[in-house]
Amino acid sequence: MEYRNLLDSVIAHLEDLQARGTQHVAVDRDLLTSLSQRPSATPNPAPTPSKGTLSGVPLPTGTRLAPEPFAIPATETPLRPIASAVMARWGSVSGAPTPPARSSVAQPPLPPKLDPMAKAVAWEDLRRRILACTRCPHLVASRRSVVFGVGTPDARLMLIGEAPGADEDVQGEPFVGKAGELLTRILGAMGFQRSDVLIANILKCRPDTPGQTAGNRKPTPEEMGTCLPWLEEQINLVQPEVLVALGATAVEGLLGKTVGITRLRGTWQTYRGIPLMPTYHPAYLLRNQAPSEKRRVWEDMMAVMERLGMPISEKQRNYFLTR
Ligand code: SF4
Repeated sequence: MEYRNLLDSVIAHLEDLQARGTQHVAVDRDLLTSLSQRPSATPNPAPTPSKGTLSGVPLPTGTRLAPEPFAIPATETPLRPIASAVMARWGSVSGAPTPPARSSVAQPPLPPKLDPMAKAVAWEDLRRRILACTRCPHLVASRRSVVFGVGTPDARLMLIGEAPGADEDVQGEPFVGKAGELLTRILGAMGFQRSDVLIANILKCRPDTPGQTAGNRKPTPEEMGTCLPWLEEQINLVQPEVLVALGATAVEGLLGKTVGITRLRGTWQTYRGIPLMPTYHPAYLLRNQAPSEKRRVWEDMMAVMERLGMPISEKQRNYFLTR
């Protein structure tokens, strides 16, 4: 991976954690020192990623990035040494232990599909049980809503996010607010409305932030493990043809993989026999507005469309590209 891409990914991850309200991260001081020094020799300097390249591959002469179907204003992300960026943004580095990562998640086989009537009854029964869930007393104490999910249980495509944020907690619906609006635009570019798919989260209740009045935090592995059976039940009933995991936490919750989303996105995975496409969380695109990043997400979505047997027009294929 190019140094710049690695650096941008680390900074984006730290900013994501900070936005969720995390105040400290555990970083080995020797590692921090070594990361603070940019490689002294770069045999092949990294090209500027957003113009004339796609995923690092040079595009034909004259190629320009195209008008965007889910456009957001573009700004430059300056290159900063990791350590100075960390220290500038975080102020301190603690030695707090990091929760152990799950190395794998059991993938029970899907049950037989239900007939439409039985499925509708089971879906409403599942909704009733999830909305009444009190398995996490600390989250029950702070939540305003249990966010069941939105869309249709007959969806061919199911998108999985991380956990409700403040807006979702208030409205009781996943992916509202700016990231949700962007996801809706991405779905629209694919030819879907939100009601055509099913959108849900790994965690159904907003992670609490004790002592803080604002901010979000990533769910703990224990919280994800406690709530995952609800999502498994949803998937049992929906049995989508394709799953999309939006962001690293969704991948970790579903697959137990803590590999960076930058490495995993765009590569087909399997969850309980269902093809799963990992891609960036829309919130990442709001932070990193490089057209090349939007194109990467769009390529992931086109792969999903192809998997679903959906036609892709020339116009769609050229989103973010013009010749
Ligand atoms: S996070 Fe999930 S398991 Fe925990 S209380 Fe909410 S619905 Fe229940």
